[in-house]
Amino acid sequence: MRKTGHAELVSASHLCLGLLLVLALNACQPGEPSVYIKLAGPAQGTAYHVSYESSDSVNLQPGIDTLLRQFDLSLSAYEPASIISAINRDEENVELDDYFVTCYLAAAEISRASDGAFDLTVAPVVNAWGFGFTDPAEVNNELIDSLLQFIGMDKVRLENGHIIKEKPGVMLDVNAIAQGYAVDVVAAFLESKGIRNYLVEIGGEVAAKGINDRGEYWRVGIDKPIDGLQLPGVQLQAVVALKNKALATSGNYRRFYVKDGVKYSHTIDPRTGYPVDHNLLSATILADDCMTADGFATACMVMGVDRSIQLLESREDLEGYLIYHNDEDGYGIYYTSGMKKILLRSES
Ligand code: AMP
Ligand code: MG
Repeated sequence: MRKTGHAELVSASHLCLGLLLVLALNACQPGEPSVYIKLAGPAQGTAYHVSYESSDSVNLQPGIDTLLRQFDLSLSAYEPASIISAINRDEENVELDDYFVTCYLAAAEISRASDGAFDLTVAPVVNAWGFGFTDPAEVNNELIDSLLQFIGMDKVRLENGHIIKEKPGVMLDVNAIAQGYAVDVVAAFLESKGIRNYLVEIGGEVAAKGINDRGEYWRVGIDKPIDGLQLPGVQLQAVVALKNKALATSGNYRRFYVKDGVKYSHTIDPRTGYPVDHNLLSATILADDCMTADGFATACMVMGVDRSIQLLESREDLEGYLIYHNDEDGYGIYYTSGMKKILLRSES
């Protein structure tokens, strides 16, 4: 799965993407204080970074890499052998696994909660606009109108362990949620190894538990939404202290293109089939798990500022930090009271 994330791990910003690093992997003797281990590697067209406190010398990287590979064999549309690729090729009776079912059910719930703003079936138009897993199409109104017949969560359902489509041509795109879900999968793996202090990050989506090697809550940065800013963590808008929570950001400042003076972003409004065009620049969501945070961050980018604020104010399980263009051509910031509590700093 290819996706860029935008909330960045401040303490690991020195790690290079794509490098397989094992740092501080020194064995501890019984009775010695434990050490923090940092791992990094490629994942989902981006990179993962994992930091965790370890009281033994067991290298968890092979286990993490195996998990992420299994994950891609379920949910990566860029992996021809995956379950989602088989579904998108209109194969019938494709056997689903737990990853797929968990992801699908969460996505269906976020779609419902966002009144259809979040929609896995946007795949054909995401592809047409050049942000998906096929070559881009020559986009015009007729093409988008013709693709709308495949869009809508009512055109797909999960029944007896299989995905049933209303018609061939309906395709699924889980990029808006799977990176967050992969963070949760790696975090659950660490938990299963008895690890109580860790930070997991994939492409900017993060989940934290316990404390860092300085004995503090993990600190995570939120990027300024500057168009074309490719390097994460370079210009931070805010820093939060993550207390056993997950954080995910969606924004239109990294994945977009400009054609004939018009900016096209990778967030698609499922009702129109067109990239969204409003003043919300990025949405950062705090939740108990990263899949939820990731999905709702994308949903907010579809809904825009006012509807996002309404949603965030109505949900006790979500906190948010929204950055938008204001009338004076500067940034406007909105954050919920729960987000305020964990902000270490925030530029106005
Ligand atoms: P994210 O960076 O998490 O906001 O995910 C963005 C990706 O989600 C896009 O590149 C598309 O693949 C996909 N996507 C775009 N629009 C939607 C939508 N309305 N609902 C669900 N997924 C979407
Ligand atoms: Mg998302």
